[in-house]
Amino acid sequence: MSAQLLDGNALSVIIRNGLAERAALLAARGVTPCLAVILVGVDPASNVYVRNKVNACEKAGMRSLKDVYPADVDPAVVFGRIAELNADPGVHGILVQLPLPKQFDSEMVLEAISPEKDIDGFHAENVGALMQGRPRFIPCTPYGVMEMLKSRHVSLKGAEAVIVGRSNIVGKPMAMLLLAAGCTVTICHSQTRDLGFHTRRADILVAAVGRPKMITGAMIKSGATVIDVGINRLPDGKLCGDVDFESAREVAGIITPVPGGVGPMTITMLLANTIEAAERI
Ligand code: NDP
Repeated sequence: MSAQLLDGNALSVIIRNGLAERAALLAARGVTPCLAVILVGVDPASNVYVRNKVNACEKAGMRSLKDVYPADVDPAVVFGRIAELNADPGVHGILVQLPLPKQFDSEMVLEAISPEKDIDGFHAENVGALMQGRPRFIPCTPYGVMEMLKSRHVSLKGAEAVIVGRSNIVGKPMAMLLLAAGCTVTICHSQTRDLGFHTRRADILVAAVGRPKMITGAMIKSGATVIDVGINRLPDGKLCGDVDFESAREVAGIITPVPGGVGPMTITMLLANTIEAAERI
């Protein structure tokens, strides 16, 4: 058996077309949705992510602002800029690209963003709202995964969902969303005793670890939906996920590729959150 491919690029095109229509409706009301991105330092991966986000905004008929600071910038300068953006009625979403250099307390930076403009959904107020089942902004990667599952009508009610990884940006919010959708959720992490025992029970398996190809076909239940969030660079420069695609595709029912799976969906949902923020005004 070879799994069906869940193509994040193709789904992104469909969703982004819908977003461009919503941006045009806003423009007719005199509102151009605007995303402000702050980048500190010259981390090459962060640079690429920010460039992709800014380009995607423009293609969807949205405006973007980009502030780039040197790695040794005084945090006070960045906090000052966040305060300006919070107060600017023309800015609907603010994103600070992580990771930040060591002189920053990342949590303090995320808390400085107005919750109404926190399109990443990382502010404690928005995390709490998600936990309570009344989200204001859903963090973009798990939001994208939910859209991918929806696009294939994957049955969630009563399904066993296993998430590998418990980060604040992927694993935990993913668990909240799948729980709210009716799954029975298990969250695995670095101290989980027998990872394969858990993953083999999963109807829906989400891998968000950052370890190349660690989930093999032998760890997957036949017919499972496998969502690979991981992005890892191999020594030969190629990208791969946390799932060993070649062995996994022989067992899974549906599988996302890397690249071209969850990655483009994350950016798409960032645009969606920015449009939603603009529509609320
Ligand atoms: P983190 O490093 O914050 O979290 C990784 C998680 O994996 C931790 O909870 C850790 O456990 C767990 N883990 C580590 N080793 C093991 C192991 N051997 N067995 C089981 N669990 C383990 O990563 P992120 O959540 O930020 O990102 C995860 C991956 O997803 C990365 O590859 C990242 O690049 C990618 N990513 C992709 C995105 C996309 O758009 N496609 C967006 C965001 C991230 P513990 O908590 O115990 O340390």
